[in-house]
Amino acid sequence: MSDGPRYGFDTLQIHAGARPDPATGARQTPIYQSTAFVFRDADHAAALFNLQEVGYIYSRLTNPTVAVLQERIATLEGGAGAVCCSSGHAAQIMALFPLLSPGKNIIASTRLYGGTVTQFSQTIKRFGWSAKFVDFDDEAAVKSAIDYNTRAVFCEAIANPGGYITDLGAISEISDAAGVPLIVDNTSATPYLCRPIEHGATLVVHSTTKYLTGNGTVTGGCVVDSGKFDWSVSDKFPSLSAPEPAYHGLTFHQTFGELAFTFHGIAVGLRDLGMTMNPQAAHYTLMGIETLSLRMQRHVENAQLVSAWLEKHDTVDRVTYAGLPTSPYYERSKRICPNGAGGLFTIALKGGYEACVKFVESLEIFSHVANLGDARSLVIHSASTTHRQLDSDQQKAAGASPEVVRISIGIEDADDIIADLDQALNKAASVKN
Ligand SMILES: *Cc1c(COP(=O)(O)O)cnc(C)c1O
Repeated sequence: MSDGPRYGFDTLQIHAGARPDPATGARQTPIYQSTAFVFRDADHAAALFNLQEVGYIYSRLTNPTVAVLQERIATLEGGAGAVCCSSGHAAQIMALFPLLSPGKNIIASTRLYGGTVTQFSQTIKRFGWSAKFVDFDDEAAVKSAIDYNTRAVFCEAIANPGGYITDLGAISEISDAAGVPLIVDNTSATPYLCRPIEHGATLVVHSTTKYLTGNGTVTGGCVVDSGKFDWSVSDKFPSLSAPEPAYHGLTFHQTFGELAFTFHGIAVGLRDLGMTMNPQAAHYTLMGIETLSLRMQRHVENAQLVSAWLEKHDTVDRVTYAGLPTSPYYERSKRICPNGAGGLFTIALKGGYEACVKFVESLEIFSHVANLGDARSLVIHSASTTHRQLDSDQQKAAGASPEVVRISIGIEDADDIIADLDQALNKAASVKN
């Protein structure tokens, strides 16, 4: 079917990008488990390699199953195109790679997934890139952090794990004025709860590992391009606006217009970095996305009930869910994610670090894992796991202090989730500090 705004989200999450298999009529998208694709003749091969014709060459670059997923996510996000890759972290590198070169920097929110803080504060330095971390509620600080060498502004829509909502409209005004793209990690919200492009984002990145797949089976990532940024307005983005030496002098923006970033991502990014999504992973994620809106509705409904219950529990010091009227981000969440504030939040236990450890060990329905956005409820003590590489100031800024536990609410019965939390909190309360 042809995609477009005339269809609603629930229809597009099932149909966008998919058509009956032209060879067999298969209704479900087949897993094209093939490394290479036969050229019709030598001219066809040459046209494909010159990017004069779109088609399949080799699965490091493009694969028909992955292509359906790319089109589906791009449609749900309201973007011009998308490139899938092997993980969420790969997607972040794929998003930055065409924009940065040695000596250039990004402005990043202090409230990010712990692994992203490490990737940006440590690993990208090996490429000669750097990140300046700023509190994104302080708009003046974001503005003044941007300098001549800044090439992107990066934040999460709903920041993992602290229940923080970024004012995407305000941040996009700042990045627009500075002439640099805004990149939004939309993993925790998904396009069902938040569509960052509608708030001014240039690029949207995803860890498809989480809610989009929704069943904890495969890792994957995606970079969606809004198609709205004018890469040629300055000389800051030569990979897109100037002849590309790694593609025999082709100028991506001039040749591909609003699909410049997407084509560069495939023709240079995947070709040379090789962080490719495999067709099996694309299949599992396509299966997951078919029920995305239904699952997100239940995640939100359960998170509302459970967080409100937790807020009243004697052993709980505070709950950081933006869907609670007590949250400082409650009003903002109605504007940025009108369908709900997600399924992820943290609780702080009065008993501190030791109580957190006992609590996590006592849960029965919840699994103690380094993952989120699964159909099943998950829990993690961030300070001793995902955020342990961070110093205590970084942990605090990310909402991952020692007395804090991160909870990813699943789609089980809310009564069962609450009963499990109750018994574990009561066991944790008996721990002496
Ligand atoms: C998990 C996660 C990532 C990293 O994704 P992987 O698929 O694990 O590489 C990035 N950002 C957020 C918000 C995440 O939750």
